[in-house]
Amino acid sequence: MKEKVELKGIILSSSPVRDYDKRLVILTKERGKITAFANGARKMNSSFSGITEPFNFGTFSLYEGYDAYRFVGGEVKEYFRDLKNDIEGICYGTYFCEILEYLCVEGIGDVNVINLIYASLKALEGKKLKPLLIRRIFELKMLAFDGEMMSAFSCSKCGKEKLISYSNNNDGLLCDECTKSASDAKLINETTVYTLQYVLSSAINKLYTFELADDILREFDTVVGWYFEKHVDKKFKSLEILNSLS
Ligand SMILES: [Zn+2]
Repeated sequence: MKEKVELKGIILSSSPVRDYDKRLVILTKERGKITAFANGARKMNSSFSGITEPFNFGTFSLYEGYDAYRFVGGEVKEYFRDLKNDIEGICYGTYFCEILEYLCVEGIGDVNVINLIYASLKALEGKKLKPLLIRRIFELKMLAFDGEMMSAFSCSKCGKEKLISYSNNNDGLLCDECTKSASDAKLINETTVYTLQYVLSSAINKLYTFELADDILREFDTVVGWYFEKHVDKKFKSLEILNSLS
C-alpha cells in the first residue's frame, strides 16, 4: 500500500461485494475514474454506509493499491438527498453516472466533466426543467467534452452558415444545398439549431437556464438521441428502467 491520498469527486456507482463490502467507482478531479473498495461499508452502524452512496460529491480518503484503491473515509459536501427521494430523479441521475462510468477513463481527470455532472444532478433535483431536456443537454455536452462535438455552427459538408437540417450520416447540421443531397437529412426549426449551438457553446453554469416549447423539445430530443446513439454504442440499464416507467 502506498500513502494515503485525498481525491475530490463524485461516486458514480456503489455495488455490494463479498459479505459486507462495497465496490465503488469514483470519478475524481485528480486521477479520473478510479475503483475503490470500502471494507465493511455494508455492516450495520458502519461509518462508511452514508458516505459511500452514488451521487455523493466530496473529498474522499483512499489508499492506493496495486489494482484498486481502499476507501478509508471522506467528507461529503453534497448528498443530493432530495434527488435520492425521487424514483425518476434516481433513474436519470444513475443514467448520467452510467454514461460517465462508460466514457471516462482511468488516470485522466477532467474538471469539466465533474462540473457537468454536478450541474446536471442539481438541475434534476431542482425540478424546474423537464428531465428529458436535462438528459439531452447532458448527453450533447458530455459527448463534446469526450471529443465528439456535433457540427452545429456551419454546414458539416460545405461550411455555409445558414443551416436547415440535421444529418446523422454527416454528424451535424446542413445548409439548404447539402440537405438536397443527404438522404437522411431531417429539416429542423431555426430555434432547434440555435438550441444545439447554445448548449455546445455555453459555460456549464448557463446550461440549465432555459426551457423549450414542446415541438422544439421533440426535435432537440430526436436529433440529440440519434447523435448520441450513433456515438455511444452501449445499452444502459438505468435507461431500460426509465423506459419502463414511462
Ligand atoms: Zn452545405
